[in-house]
Amino acid sequence: MTPHDAKDAPHRRWNPLLREWVLVSPHRTQRPWLGQVATPVIPPRIEYDPECYLCPGNSRAGGSQNPSYTATYVFDNDYPALLPDATPFQIDEGDLIVARGERGFCRVVCFSPRHDLTIPRMQPEDVRAVIDVWTDQYRDLGAVPWVQHVQIFENRGALMGASNPHPHCQIWANQTLPNQPARELAAQTEYLQKHEKCLLCSYLVLEGNDRVRIVTENESFVALVPYWAVWPFETMILSRRHVGSMAEFSEAERNDLAGVLRSLTIRYDNLFTTAFPYTMGFHQQPTDGKQHPEWHFHAHYFPPLLRSATVQKFMVGYEMLASPQRDITAEGAAAHLRGLSDVHFLDQA
Ligand SMILES: [Zn+2]
Ligand SMILES: [Zn+2]
Ligand SMILES: [Zn+2]
Repeated sequence: MTPHDAKDAPHRRWNPLLREWVLVSPHRTQRPWLGQVATPVIPPRIEYDPECYLCPGNSRAGGSQNPSYTATYVFDNDYPALLPDATPFQIDEGDLIVARGERGFCRVVCFSPRHDLTIPRMQPEDVRAVIDVWTDQYRDLGAVPWVQHVQIFENRGALMGASNPHPHCQIWANQTLPNQPARELAAQTEYLQKHEKCLLCSYLVLEGNDRVRIVTENESFVALVPYWAVWPFETMILSRRHVGSMAEFSEAERNDLAGVLRSLTIRYDNLFTTAFPYTMGFHQQPTDGKQHPEWHFHAHYFPPLLRSATVQKFMVGYEMLASPQRDITAEGAAAHLRGLSDVHFLDQA
């Protein structure tokens, strides 16, 4: 049986990165795509908000004041979840009550001084400047001897809990490998040992042949809906070249990353003519000073919207207690995204 034969019947798909199953129920979406057009959620049109704690020159809650920055701006989070000088400790009561002290850094990156400019509406050269900052941060934080992992992530939109609409992301760097990267490290290591090939390089070959889950691509990157996607319009961006992190990208690859980030997020905004909410982040090789031949650079996008700007998927019930589940297939989601314009709806005539 080929993957194409599985498309209408309930089935499970294997996520080789997290090594778990996803339940897919395509028969529940026999109804045609509704293409529902909700009232567009127009992003803020003001370039500067005197009340915004991320805008240039404004005061932040902790009492600090932002400089009058004119490009990407990085600062230490005023309410950090991790502290670099936390005292080490260990608790272990019968392998059941177990804790460890954890050190780390939490930073905030404002993409632009503009309150209203998100990645899909920034110029390619301005997105490239953000990528340069991410790369420097990954390198600098990763160079701290005890930092083993640097997580760059963006929560976009109130639906994802973003507390401020000013376009920004966060960087958390810490002493141990967090859960998801640790699972992916184990899976990629085992795959490399078993097949003598990289897991994601091998996966890219299959997707390049099949093409049904590819959303957009350029010389250096492919954006696709992974075969095992859980969220309706979940995507991954993979580098074509086998590299472990941004630190290894060429000039051309940095520019191409800006290109694919824009091309994907413009399609997201155009899907429901809204400022499409998501959590996204990069998974890069651990910064533990070891060689990581197994690790392949990639990004994940987890957007909650399902059918319109106002209808979202909830991960509740069966998903909390048993297993993730989806109705619309990865192939259907990719086809919708692929078919959209790569000109942002706000920039269309
Ligand atoms: Zn602002
Ligand atoms: Zn690879
Ligand atoms: Zn990952």
